[in-house]
Amino acid sequence: MTKHLQPSTDPITEDRIYIAEALKGVNTAALIMSIVHMTGDTSILRGSIRPKLMDVVAAGAEAEGDEPFGEGGFTQEEMASVRAQALEAIESYRDRGCTLPTLDEDSVTEMFHYMSGRDLDTDYAAFVKEEIALDGVDCRGLVLDDAALQERAQNFPVIIIGAGMGGVLAAIRLDEAGIPYTVLEKNPGIGGTWYENCYPGCRVDVAGHSYSYSFEPNHDWSCHFPLADDIRAYYDHCAEEYDVKKHIRFNTEVVEAVYDEAEYSWRVRVSDQDGREEILTARAIISAVGQLNRPKMPDIQGLDSFTGEVVHSGAWRGDGALAGKRVAVIGSGASAFQIIPELAQTTVKLEVFQRSPAWMFPNPAYHSEVSEGQKWALKKLPYYSKWYRFWLFYAAVEGVYEQTLADEYWDSPLSVSASNDEMRKSLSAWIESQVADPELLQKVLPRYPPFGKRILQDNGTYLAALQHPDTEVITTGIRACVADGIITEDGSLHEVDVIVCATGFHADHFLFPMKIVGCKGIELAEQWGEDNGRAYLGITVPNFPNLFCIYGPNTNLVVAGSIAHNAESQVNYILRCFRLLFENGLEAMNCRQAIHDQYNAKVDAANAATAWGSPLVNNWYKNSAGRITANLPFRIIDYWKMTKQPNPDDFIFSGRSL
Ligand code: NAP
Repeated sequence: MTKHLQPSTDPITEDRIYIAEALKGVNTAALIMSIVHMTGDTSILRGSIRPKLMDVVAAGAEAEGDEPFGEGGFTQEEMASVRAQALEAIESYRDRGCTLPTLDEDSVTEMFHYMSGRDLDTDYAAFVKEEIALDGVDCRGLVLDDAALQERAQNFPVIIIGAGMGGVLAAIRLDEAGIPYTVLEKNPGIGGTWYENCYPGCRVDVAGHSYSYSFEPNHDWSCHFPLADDIRAYYDHCAEEYDVKKHIRFNTEVVEAVYDEAEYSWRVRVSDQDGREEILTARAIISAVGQLNRPKMPDIQGLDSFTGEVVHSGAWRGDGALAGKRVAVIGSGASAFQIIPELAQTTVKLEVFQRSPAWMFPNPAYHSEVSEGQKWALKKLPYYSKWYRFWLFYAAVEGVYEQTLADEYWDSPLSVSASNDEMRKSLSAWIESQVADPELLQKVLPRYPPFGKRILQDNGTYLAALQHPDTEVITTGIRACVADGIITEDGSLHEVDVIVCATGFHADHFLFPMKIVGCKGIELAEQWGEDNGRAYLGITVPNFPNLFCIYGPNTNLVVAGSIAHNAESQVNYILRCFRLLFENGLEAMNCRQAIHDQYNAKVDAANAATAWGSPLVNNWYKNSAGRITANLPFRIIDYWKMTKQPNPDDFIFSGRSL
């Protein structure tokens, strides 16, 4: 069973001086919630001190200390007052043996309204209550409480492809449900994209305290935006903690999966690191390969003739071997944005080949460590960690959603709506405040709507690196590579020792390069075409019974919070699909084409009405025909509702009655 949904019961033993010091580093809004839990007194919720869900640009620019999204608009005086009240509440709680009063449902509802600054409707309240599990109840696992169901589950082996965030999650949940499974992982270790992306500076740009499974919080993240190594270690810890590692076959790559219609099962051909092949069978497959796991090299004439080293950000080799070298970085997306500040410190020459500049959110805490006081509060203050997760999640989800939506009557090449344009002006001002040289400013100021591409978290290090005396930003296009370096369209030769390709992934090639064959010999790559992945809810695909995807087509989140949340929704749905099979004593379920098509029509229409779907922008979310194949366009609350429980009418069931 999931172990850590219950609020922490670590007793507080620290003295007043320690506590007062620790409180200096904590989140004020979450602290107020903890005060209510400790005192049972909700009157603070009706006072004048209230959080404001500021827009994230303003919040970042005004952030104090280590707080990733700002302090919720509290003044210094208000924060001091809250800390003083907290100190009294904590001492009283400690001195009475750390017992808590019971809060009734109305009080909890009032707390949600207070934190969010608005009256949450019933659905939204249910959604966030489940997400942070205040009551410690795990609604997302599958409990098979009937012997017949348990027996069917035991005869339903599942293959999970990938041991990254989604695969480890699926393994934990299948394990709990008593469904046998094997995880096939092509790498020697756990972590997926976080295993492969080990370039200098690699870290997540979503707050770590929400970038984790809801049932396994990590109160020891060293940074607010954790480094790749720490994220790998977290997923490794989860696999250990829930004892699923023994079911993972490392260095094992899935080459092909073929559905056997007569047997209602999948035959999966795998290859180990020595090329030895084997066929495994399973009743269902869960693909957890993600969207960003196959590095995409740029199609540049003569790249092979370059005699120096060529390395892709997503397949990094060596450690710091670029020091003292002349390096070219191709690309200016999320990966380049993190690599460049690191390389600028040690290379003798750094040339950044930028095709389009990135928008960036001001976030002074982007590289900050989590204070010891914050770690203490997460572990010891009653319910603090749960409300802190809610705070991060809510700010990230609701803070900017409106600005992503396109107004069909808005007519500008630079923005998609009035509020998007407001954001453009704030983000432009943030860039302008960092760049004095007008020529460089011309290069780094984006001329497309915010949210047209992923907006990056910025603490000033990126633009500082571009202004390093040994760094140059080159916006002239690349014509070719030659033995000594890169030739640009103006005929100049840029001599370098190493070319770093931070050029992204084959994100539009879902489940690539596996060969997946469904009913009547239909190949997934044929059904989807080269780069047009579609699935119902991003999870199931007609003609491919019992094949389920985590982070499949149209499930990427642009502003809607942590992808871990979405993966939990998908695994919840998949488990309930299995339950439907077990309850009906059937073997396979195949998504109805019409349901799938209706859903995808809605997805396409909604995506087309966003900044990233705008014809003004190019991005990795679109396929070669301009259709958005990567992103979920809906609010995360809507997706949560859609994936809460499968509708049996959406599927054609088959199989021998069991
Ligand atoms: P990306 O966002 O697709 O960026 C690729 C960059 O390479 C773009 O600047 C692109 O220019 C440029 N490029 C591609 N082909 C080129 C060519 N032939 N010549 C010149 N420039 C070329 O890839 P990414 O930076 O690896 O990021 C992909 C996604 O991974 C992110 O959006 C994010 O979801 C995830 N990621 C997350 C983190 C994090 O959490 N911190 C870090 C890294 C990645 P154009 O924009 O003009 O096409």
